[in-house]
Amino acid sequence: MTDPRLAGTTGRLLDSLGPLFDFFTESPWAKKRKGPGACDFLAGNPQEMPLPEFVEALQRAAVPKDKDWYAYKLAEPEPMKVVAESLREERGIEFEDEDIVLTTGAFAGLAITMRTVVDPGDEVIFLSPPWFFYESMIVAAGAEPVRVPIDPPDFDLPVDAIAAAITEKTRAIIVNSPQNPTGRIYPGSDLQRLADVLTKASERNGRPIYLISDEAYCKIVYDDRDFPSPTDFYPNSFLVYTYGKTLLTPGQRFGYIALPPTMPDRDRMRPAVLVTAVVAGWLFPTALMQHALPEIDGLSIDIKALQARRDRMVEALRGFGYETTNPEGTFYLVVRSPDPDDRAFTLKLAEDRVYVLPGSLFELPGFFRISITANDDMVERSLPVFEKAIAG
Ligand code: PMP
Repeated sequence: MTDPRLAGTTGRLLDSLGPLFDFFTESPWAKKRKGPGACDFLAGNPQEMPLPEFVEALQRAAVPKDKDWYAYKLAEPEPMKVVAESLREERGIEFEDEDIVLTTGAFAGLAITMRTVVDPGDEVIFLSPPWFFYESMIVAAGAEPVRVPIDPPDFDLPVDAIAAAITEKTRAIIVNSPQNPTGRIYPGSDLQRLADVLTKASERNGRPIYLISDEAYCKIVYDDRDFPSPTDFYPNSFLVYTYGKTLLTPGQRFGYIALPPTMPDRDRMRPAVLVTAVVAGWLFPTALMQHALPEIDGLSIDIKALQARRDRMVEALRGFGYETTNPEGTFYLVVRSPDPDDRAFTLKLAEDRVYVLPGSLFELPGFFRISITANDDMVERSLPVFEKAIAG
């Protein structure tokens, strides 16, 4: 007997994420990436040892200083203060300590935010190609995903198409800048146009459309560019952050949601977010991460080294004849597959132990994604393989 649930929401989640999970368990990458000579460009995962300062901070924080060290924790005042202070300093915006909700990474931050604002029947807009999980997370929150394409080769913020996709059911839009996978940082002028569209549509609808700003990569920025935060342009916005990218420690889950001081109804929104976090089962991040935060908050991987790796890859790939993005931020290059069948081409690379992510897994068939979190040795070993693969 088939469980009808598997034809409902759970079935929808399985249909949309099944191919991705199959890839993560069955592909040549899944089976061979740890083998000798593998060049792993697949995900934003570390290919080198973590920052020693990060490890030492965890070691120190693991030693209890009182009997409550590992007691049940809400978000603790000290880490909330650390986050608000660094946001104030970095962005020049007066974030308040109590408007910081500590989360188990951006995954949890996004899930909690969506659950807080959407009701069944609401629509949530996301931009495609997206980070893999948006569509399913919107479905899991009980809302209807509405996809708006962003077009190669520039992948600009499609403000007009967003305006056209808004209906009276629109409740939220997810904006990710710097954007995974395209590496775009949206300029302030586009974010202002978006804010104007959202403000007008909210007035028309008689209720706010929320902007969920996924800022996972806001510190992975190249060429000393500015990062304009969408939250600076639109008051009804949530800032979602994870330390997993800046520290390249995605398995040690930690991040936050910040409500900007311009958000209306913050007094009600603040407890609403907290309550949703608790009942959705996400609660708050572990005691250990909260204790370690004061030491961890200011740490970062070497962005200049990452930028040098980006330059090396982009120049070499273009030299071989590939069409590739030159990302302004994030870990990723999006490359047009010389074979329109991106799966076939990535399998060809995998025969020589170069592992990249086929575009058909992130709504961009005909392309593939390279993560420059691979180490320099992998980059150098991969280049002759990329050269041979495009030659035929
Ligand atoms: N948003 C984007 C755009 C991401 O790329 C990721 C991680 N790949 C996340 C959110 C989730 O971050 P974390 O796993 O650190 O919670």
